[in-house]
Amino acid sequence: MIHLGRLVRVTDMDRAIVVGGGLAGVRAVEALRAQGYAGALTLVSAERHRPYDRPPLSKAVLAGDTDDTTVDADWDALRCDLLLGERATGLRPATPGGGGVVTSTAGDLPFDGLVIATGAAPITLPGDGRQRVLRTIEDARDLRAALTEGARIVIVGAGWIGAEVATAAARKGCAVTVVEAADTPLANAVGPEVGALTAPWYAEAGVELRTGVKVASVEDGGLTLAGAPGGGRIEADEVVVGVGVRPVLDWLDGSGLLLERGVVTDASFRVLTQDGDPRPDIVAVGDCAAWWSRRYGRRLLVEHWDTALNAPETAAATLLGGSAVYDAVPYFWSEQFGRMVQYAGVHAASERIVHRGDPADAKWAVAWLTGDRLDAILTVHRPRDLVQARRVIAAGTPVDPALLADPDVPVRQAVRA
Ligand SMILES: Cc1cc2nc3c(=O)[nH]c(=O)nc-3n(C[C@H](O)[C@H](O)[C@H](O)COP(=O)(O)OP(=O)(O)OC[C@H]3O[C@@H](n4cnc5c(N)ncnc54)[C@H](O)[C@@H]3O)c2cc1C
Repeated sequence: MIHLGRLVRVTDMDRAIVVGGGLAGVRAVEALRAQGYAGALTLVSAERHRPYDRPPLSKAVLAGDTDDTTVDADWDALRCDLLLGERATGLRPATPGGGGVVTSTAGDLPFDGLVIATGAAPITLPGDGRQRVLRTIEDARDLRAALTEGARIVIVGAGWIGAEVATAAARKGCAVTVVEAADTPLANAVGPEVGALTAPWYAEAGVELRTGVKVASVEDGGLTLAGAPGGGRIEADEVVVGVGVRPVLDWLDGSGLLLERGVVTDASFRVLTQDGDPRPDIVAVGDCAAWWSRRYGRRLLVEHWDTALNAPETAAATLLGGSAVYDAVPYFWSEQFGRMVQYAGVHAASERIVHRGDPADAKWAVAWLTGDRLDAILTVHRPRDLVQARRVIAAGTPVDPALLADPDVPVRQAVRA
């Protein structure tokens, strides 16, 4: 059967299971049906809710503008059995011949095609005091209720989530302190030089930013700092921890799949066994997958919405016998302190940074280059720059750094003829 220009062997698979009901999970279900899969389809998800979007949790939900971010999907038309509030507990892949069994709190689930989409879970800190994290709709609703005027909110981590929570808490009149182990916000995500450009936003919003400060533990009523004379303590009514996430892999222990920082896959999302062999009947996608990027010649683990939205189409095609490769330029956005911040590309190995506009202004951007190749861009209130730069990055066209540095020249016109 020919579908979407690919050769699709829809008859090879009769029982497909998707484990994980986040965005990647629902998109995998939709993609399997859209690409002609007609067999049995089950989605198992630990959460009791139908799949919902997480980006609004730290934005519109915390702000009180919405309470429901459910992904709009027609479950009847998708003919998918939803096992909500049920957890996969193990995976026994069959060899040879493919297929296998997912063990779960709902019983054994045999499959001949499996999508692993169990996402990621927040990292927490030592200590027995209450730590709030922000991953689920319940987390967001509970945190929103705690953001009352005058409440002392201490946020650990000045990353994307920390900045967004600080934005919401400051708007609600809380006394907000952000504690960050690195010397600047966003140091892990965009490096200290660019991260430092966002530090003034905290003070402007009335948020105290304490960088270079490590937290030893969280106790009732606050937290203890590491290495500070006398221990050092910050009193808090609420401690919110936003220090990153880890892929949810525990249920895959003993499965024989290669697990590093994520479920290791090839460029088409086929999982690899511990012997390094790809399994065409099992794919992993979204925040839990460490996939091979041909574009970057290395493994990427991208914990962003755009990848969870778009990559499942390729993963589904793979399960159906295709060999398409996912090769998108990673994209991410954040809304913090009244600013729309967007990022595209991968800058890990870039040689230098080019500024595009003055960071003291409302709108500016920063580009990462290697030679005359554009590797990545971060934009503040410059969505057109983002869109054009993402295309230039994808095409790999050389740019003129001097033109790129001029904010009055559209990014696409900075391309060398
Ligand atoms: C508060 C917040 C704000 C964000 N803001 C942005 C943003 O502005 N821009 C952006 O690009 N990205 C943002 N992200 C990231 C984006 O939401 C994630 O990249 C995306 O949700 C990943 O989707 P996923 O389906 O791979 O994983 P998840 O959304 O984590 O879904 C995985 C699902 O699998 C379930 N599960 C786990 N283990 C099991 C098991 N053993 N059995 C069954 N089910 C299981 C989990 O409970 C969960 O429901 C944000 C994330 C958060 C939390």
